[in-house]
Formats: sequence, structure tokens, C-alpha cells
Amino acid sequence: MIVIEGCAIATVDAAGTEHTSGHLVIEDNRIVALGGGPAPAGYETARRVDGRGCLATPGLVNCHHHLYQWITRGLAQQASLFEWLTELYPVWARLDAELELAAARAGIAALLTSGCSTSTDHHYVFPAAAGDLLAAEVAAAVGLGIRFHPCRGSMDLGRSRGGLPPDEIVEDRDSVLAATEAAIERYHDPSPGSMLRIAVAPCSPFSVSGELMREAAALARRRGVRLHTHLAETVEEEAYCRERFGRTPVQYLEDLGWLGDDVWLAHCVHLDSASVRRFGDTGTAVAHCPSSNARLGAGIAPVAELLRSGAPVGLGVDGAASNEAGQLGPELRQALLVARLRGGPAALTARQALALGTSGGARCLGRQDELGSLEPGKLADVALWRLDDLGHADVADPVAALVLGPPARVELLLVGGRAVVEGGELCIGSQSEIAGDALAASRRLLEVTEAIT
Ligand SMILES: [Zn+2]
Repeated sequence: MIVIEGCAIATVDAAGTEHTSGHLVIEDNRIVALGGGPAPAGYETARRVDGRGCLATPGLVNCHHHLYQWITRGLAQQASLFEWLTELYPVWARLDAELELAAARAGIAALLTSGCSTSTDHHYVFPAAAGDLLAAEVAAAVGLGIRFHPCRGSMDLGRSRGGLPPDEIVEDRDSVLAATEAAIERYHDPSPGSMLRIAVAPCSPFSVSGELMREAAALARRRGVRLHTHLAETVEEEAYCRERFGRTPVQYLEDLGWLGDDVWLAHCVHLDSASVRRFGDTGTAVAHCPSSNARLGAGIAPVAELLRSGAPVGLGVDGAASNEAGQLGPELRQALLVARLRGGPAALTARQALALGTSGGARCLGRQDELGSLEPGKLADVALWRLDDLGHADVADPVAALVLGPPARVELLLVGGRAVVEGGELCIGSQSEIAGDALAASRRLLEVTEAIT
């Protein structure tokens, strides 16, 4: 049992309840009490956390990532998406399970220490001799204590069939579907409080056949798991879809049966107003990745318009090869800034930005009943941010201090009531060791690639 007292609290519940000084009581993996002032009597044996100078929020939810990319950061620095992919596919083709483990541990460490308690991952590169890459990233997540929703991704449309990736890194459709079903069988835990759920995630319209998109959707719906893919990231993708299918990316996806409240889509930068309405009408969710979109010069997603349409919107860091920082906390600020560059100073408030990173993310993953807000009965995924330092102490409003200020130190991060970060450091695993392993992995991967190309 844990009692946190004396902190400001932003619950991000439906009413936007906040306390300037309050308490949280956690028993096993759930929140059992929360409110203003000190905790009620009856919890004398609990571990007590002094929350003075801190703000408690729900743990952040990361809705889009490619953990393997941690070891290919800093490459293709001035490239557009298609140029960047074309340069990186041959490097990623040399990935193996040992490299994957080092990359995933580093990526997850960056997420946890930036306040993220739940993350998805979209892994779509499965070279034939790479070993069990999905098992490696699951081991990384279990080892560091994050709640994990890995997506079994795929590509089956190689260059010889009009796709963008080289043929050597695409799989055939039957193998993809069999491996995806096996991943669900082996890892997917649908029970309440689940730490591990699988989603089905063919990569993108320009690397996956329409047949695989349709069959992947049928598989996901037969097994009761969620669907994820990239969509409408760049103008080049829109041109590709118009030329090849005579449709916009959203029309193409709708033809394939891919709009619905069991689907969340990464990016969605280039949407017309009819598409935004379709997302709202169908409950199709969006993982907004503002830093990655800026890094690749892709554009700014219409987040304010999507929120007005009723579509769920969460945040994603995206793979670290297009967002070297790989931290989710700073994406709150980035989301607010780009929304205002697009729509003016009232386009997104600090509280809306916090909601994108918490309750919005929980909706993307279909876990709004358990995650994304601090309420009695919900899972105890709690971030306690230190706001009494130079960067934050005199900002008038704690939510503004968190969102608009510099990245805040995570004093405590709980995942299902278990401490995974304390005083800004991982509770399990050493950051310097993880960084050293990632450096060695990155060097080995780039050396192997250079030796072959
Ligand atoms: Zn991505």
C-alpha cells in the first residue's frame, strides 16, 4: 500500500477535477482513494510519499513507437519520409534479436524516465534470419516494468510489386498472418489490469498490399484485438494513393474496412475536412507524433479539428530515428506548440495537451476504463513530477509548469502500483549500462551494414 500526500493533482477525469494539495491511496495495483487534503486515517502501515513540490498526473500513454530505431538515430538528417526510409531500410534489414533487445531497453528507459507508464510499439521489420524480435522487445518491457502493447507489424509489398521497401525485408502474406496469430496466442492478455496486449499492425499503404490490410483486419476482429497502422503522414503518400488507387489515404483505408473504434492510426497529418468528420463519426483514433512530423518536415496534424469531431487523439514519440529524443513528457509541449502554429493561441490548452498524453492515449488503446485518469478503481499508473525547481517553481499553474516548462523530473512513476522510476532514475536497471549497450549495438549494426553495402 502507498499513500502520496501534499502534491497538486490533475486527475484528467471527465470533469477535469484538480486539487492544489491532495492525496492518493494505492492498494495493490489500483487507486483506492483520492482527494484534497491529507489522506484519511486507516493507512498507517502504508509506504508514505511526501508529494510536496510535486504534481501527480496519470502516467503518460505512448501510442506510437518503433523501439528498434533507437540504435539508428542521427542518420538521414535532412531527408523527407520516403528518402529517410529508403536510406534506413538496408540498415534495418541487418537487425537481429540481440540488437533489438538493446534498442528496446534504451527506448523504454527513455519513456519511463519521461513519465510514460504505458507504451505501444509498432514493429514491422522481420528479416528472415533475425531471430525472435518480438520476444526480445517483450523481454525488454517486462524487465523494465512498463505496461506494453506491442503491435505485430508487417510489410508484404516490396519494390518489385510497386512498394517502397526492398524485397529482402518484406514477408509473404501467409507468413505474416500466421506469425501475427501466433503472437496473439502467445502474448495477448485481455484480462483486467493486463500488462501485455497485442495489436495487429500492417505498416503503411506504400509497403503493404490491400489484401493483407483486409485479412489483417479480419484477423484482428476475429481475435478481439486492436488495429494500428501509419496513415496520411506526408504529401508524397497522398500522391502515391491517388496515383495507385485513385483515392485519398483515408478513402483507401475506409474501402479496406479500416475505419472504426477498434483502430488507431499514426500521424494523420494530411486530412481534408471530410476525413476528419469520418474519424469522428466512426470513432477512429489518431496517434499524433508532433516531434517526428517536425523532424521529417511532414506537416502539422489537425489535432484541434479532430478533437472537435469527437475522434480520440493520443500522443506518440514515433521511432527514435525520426525523434532522437524519444521522450514522451516533452511531447505535451510540442503538441501544444504545433497546434498553435497551425490554429492560433487558443487552438490547444495546456490541459488539453495533458489529456492527449493521458486519457486520449488510453482511448487509442481501448483502455479508457482502466487507464488515462486518476480515479478510485482505476489502475495505479501515476506520474509524480517535481515542480519546485528552477525551471518550474514560480510558474503560476502546475499544469502549465508541466506542459510549458522544461522537461520535469519524474520523482516517482508507478505502473500498477509498482515503482519503476524514483528520483528520476530507473528502479530496475542502470541507465548508463543501458546506454552503453545501445551504443555497442548501434556500432555493430552500422559496421555490419557498411561491410555488406
Ligand atoms: Zn511510425
